[in-house]
Parts: sequence; C-alpha cells; structure tokens
Amino acid sequence: MSMASDHPDGYVSDTAHRVIGEHVTGPCLQCQHRRCRLLEWAVKTVVTSLQPDQQVPLDQRHPLTLAARRVAEVHWPGGDGRCTPCRRADCEPGGLALTWLNAINDPWSPTLASAPSVVTLRQITGMD
Ligand SMILES: [Zn+2]
Ligand SMILES: [Zn+2]
Repeated sequence: MSMASDHPDGYVSDTAHRVIGEHVTGPCLQCQHRRCRLLEWAVKTVVTSLQPDQQVPLDQRHPLTLAARRVAEVHWPGGDGRCTPCRRADCEPGGLALTWLNAINDPWSPTLASAPSVVTLRQITGMD
C-alpha cells in the first residue's frame, strides 16, 4: 500500500507510536470510555506500515500490545459475529489489532463473558 505524504518517511508512524505511548498513561481528549478513534488510527497506521521482516523496537512493543488489546476488546464480536461499535463482521480496527496480537502470539483474550479466544477468532476469521 502507498503511504505517500509530504512528510519524511517515518513521520506518520512516529506520530502513531507517540499516540499509542500516551495511552499507556491515560486517556486522550478523544477517548470515549474504552473506545478511542485516535488510538484506532494509531494502531492501524503502525500495523499497516509494518514490513514482514521489520521488528518493532522493544520499547514500542508493549505500548502497541496494550493498545491492540484495548482496540480488540472494544471491537470484539458479539454473539452475532459483529462488533458492537461498527456492527460489522469484518471490523477493520478489530482485525488490525488482532493482526498484531497474532503476530506476537499474544496469549491475551478479553475478559468478556462467552467471548471466543484469539485462537477461535482466528479460525472464524481465517486470519493467520
Ligand atoms: Zn484516546
Ligand atoms: Zn469494530
């Protein structure tokens, strides 16, 4: 995909990493309870800009993992297979967050009643 912009390479993803880092310590002005569209943008920006052989720097991995867990939980599908905020089965923010959690084999699963595990959801969505 193209990330064409007037900014030098890395500018957008630096901004995204900064947003993710700020959410470790507290909510931003756009946070609405657990959901934050700015954080969803940041996770999307970082995950979609990752190259297959690219390592996320160690000091950025944990904040990204926390952000991805939060986005995944907010967008976790309900009993009808659709996420609550988007009402979509192919929810993009949730899918991108799970892409990262899958990439690092994160053992986390949300603390929601009867929620499928990451492994189950991977099978449902066909993601690997
Ligand atoms: Zn926020
Ligand atoms: Zn969603």
